[in-house]
Amino acid sequence: MNRTIKFLARSSRTILIPLHFVIVGCGLGGLAAAHCLGRAGHTVTVFESASCIGEVGAGIQISPNLSRLLIRWGLGNELRKASVKPESITFRRYNTGHRVGWTKWGENMDRDYGAPYCHVHRADLLDMLFKLASPYMSLFLNSRVVSLDPDLGKVTLESGQTFRADVVLGADGVKSMIREVVVGHPDKPIPTGDAAYRAIIPTSEMVKDPDLKPLVDHPEMTGWIGPGRHIMAYCIRGTQEYNLVMLHPDRGLREAYNVPGCVHKMRSDFAGWEPRVQKLLALVSSTLIWPLLDRDPLDTWIHPSGKVALLGDACHPMLPYRAQGSAMAIEDAAVLGVLFSHITSRGQIRPLLEAYQALRHPRTTETQLASRLNQKIFHLPDGPEQEARDLSMRKGMEDSLREERGEPSLDGSSGNANVWADRTKNRIQFCYDAEEEAERWWNTFEKRWSTGEPLTFKL
Ligand SMILES: Cc1cc2nc3c(=O)[nH]c(=O)nc-3n(C[C@H](O)[C@H](O)[C@H](O)COP(=O)(O)OP(=O)(O)OC[C@H]3O[C@@H](n4cnc5c(N)ncnc54)[C@H](O)[C@@H]3O)c2cc1C
Repeated sequence: MNRTIKFLARSSRTILIPLHFVIVGCGLGGLAAAHCLGRAGHTVTVFESASCIGEVGAGIQISPNLSRLLIRWGLGNELRKASVKPESITFRRYNTGHRVGWTKWGENMDRDYGAPYCHVHRADLLDMLFKLASPYMSLFLNSRVVSLDPDLGKVTLESGQTFRADVVLGADGVKSMIREVVVGHPDKPIPTGDAAYRAIIPTSEMVKDPDLKPLVDHPEMTGWIGPGRHIMAYCIRGTQEYNLVMLHPDRGLREAYNVPGCVHKMRSDFAGWEPRVQKLLALVSSTLIWPLLDRDPLDTWIHPSGKVALLGDACHPMLPYRAQGSAMAIEDAAVLGVLFSHITSRGQIRPLLEAYQALRHPRTTETQLASRLNQKIFHLPDGPEQEARDLSMRKGMEDSLREERGEPSLDGSSGNANVWADRTKNRIQFCYDAEEEAERWWNTFEKRWSTGEPLTFKL
């Protein structure tokens, strides 16, 4: 039976052409889209296959390009309360624990990129977005969409119920079925060969150990990198909890998602890693396994009918190695919200969807590819390539330390193996303001539209 949560769709503004959007999937991307489109004055119905809205017990990194939007949407206080601002990012050798890379974060993030870098619990981020979206959406839980007629914009639920919309948005994640309708053929995600163990430790246990206490007293993003494996670890929830993401070779649980893993197997996967890692893993009482799936960038995110489009992992799943997946999904939502806030005729639906794709596709593709590159960089086997990587990271660290001493930066660490040391790449990734980009595009588009110029936004 469907559980329906009816939030009386409230619009914050009067819009000339109010549309009905159906959003398939109530993850971070779907919720953000419900908020942005509802706030713009449209009617939003969300279908979610799960019986409740929730996130796995794990942390998530919020970079400035995302925190900027959350703060603008009024979540600044909640974000501050729920998050930890890491002082820096450190890369360590897996077996010795020696530091090979370091970049100062903390206030430097606000200063250089205009918004904070934060670490939060995924459930806290989901809660924040849920509160934002609730006033604007009708949410149907236990409501798996099993088919879609793209020409009619009609979705059918497992229960047999059907719903029609002006626009259907597929926000149904990496295993998206809406994506298959858009591309017109079966299109399954590709296993990467990696899986992630995820675990959270109470820091009250860590502070009892003098080797682990500094990880709590001076919260940072620590990455231990080794052959075929790496660990990313950071504090969340006001340093009450420590989040661990442990990447390792997948052993064939490819179809399962977030299944409980064996802590003994997890520990043996990192046998021989430095003592702090052993101590941290000894504190893990349970873990989840998350096999990592990937897909190549798509040629189009829009069905030829002009009534169906994709967002988030459904069109551009990100490997977690650049920590940008949810940021990209929420940026997509922000752009859709701004563009569709300006709609003045139904004839603009398709051009606006094409504009959305033209604005978002290059950025998300670039980020997808950068995330894949990090997989290779982090997992290099010991040898000449690994030594060259570590040398590059050390140079980036030297640059950051020079800056700490008040000396000028030498080269901004362009092309550094530690991508977070590369100021040019950071500026592109973190200074981006999705809403501003969409407004800027609209201002140009509106002028061209009013002069009767034909508009094409194909990639
Ligand atoms: C190990 C790991 C670490 C990560 N760390 C970070 C990080 O630090 N920072 C970051 O920005 N990103 C990170 N990511 C990526 C991020 O989690 C995803 O990119 C993001 O959650 C995608 O959101 P989404 O809304 O597109 O998809 P999802 O969150 O997958 O949501 C899809 C929703 O659709 C529902 N659904 C699916 N099919 C149907 C259907 N047929 N009918 C109805 N509902 C359906 C699902 O139940 C789900 O609720 C990480 C990912 C992994 C695997």
